[in-house]
Amino acid sequence: MKFICVGKNYSEHIKEMGSVKPTEPVIFIKPDSSLIQKNDPFIIPSFSSIIHYEIEILVLISRLGRHIKEEFSSKYYNKITVGIDFTARDYQNELKEKGLPWEKSKAFDGSALVGQWKDKNTFDDLDKLEFHLLKNGQKVQQSNISEMLWSIDELISHSSKFFTLKIGDILFTGTPSGVGPVKKNDLLEGYLNNERLFSIKVK
Ligand code: ZN
Repeated sequence: MKFICVGKNYSEHIKEMGSVKPTEPVIFIKPDSSLIQKNDPFIIPSFSSIIHYEIEILVLISRLGRHIKEEFSSKYYNKITVGIDFTARDYQNELKEKGLPWEKSKAFDGSALVGQWKDKNTFDDLDKLEFHLLKNGQKVQQSNISEMLWSIDELISHSSKFFTLKIGDILFTGTPSGVGPVKKNDLLEGYLNNERLFSIKVK
């Protein structure tokens, strides 16, 4: 499986990064080796001193597809959760300045946390999902899926023009504002519609 990740999908986050709104979705891939195994902690890698958390809404692909038309996108995923796209921000900035790909700062081993999946039919309104992240009990990020620049359906359609979507692939839909650093012993907890779907320690 692979992770299909979206960058710059919330206006306030684009502002805080001093970036500009892209004309089409920014997409990158993480390999399956970036998945944090169940109950494992997040381990700060040796090549970075500024690791940022990024809480995001995640979508589980349930059907093989390519060149998916937007009106059919909803048939290609069945579950939703929240997770973290851990980012080596110092290294990412260095790579960006040199005009190089982000991969090493974004797709390293243990950079993808996936929360507990919820069947999408359990939500009354998929266009109004609230989500937030607590760091050591303090709310550091909060947003609503309605704030996304590109919707899940648009992202599935767009990314499937370039990458075949396979059963078990996971779409990371981008982070809202409030990203920040983690340090050893931090506790991160992610909520979707006020239900806690992950909890992870930093080591
Ligand atoms: Zn992200």
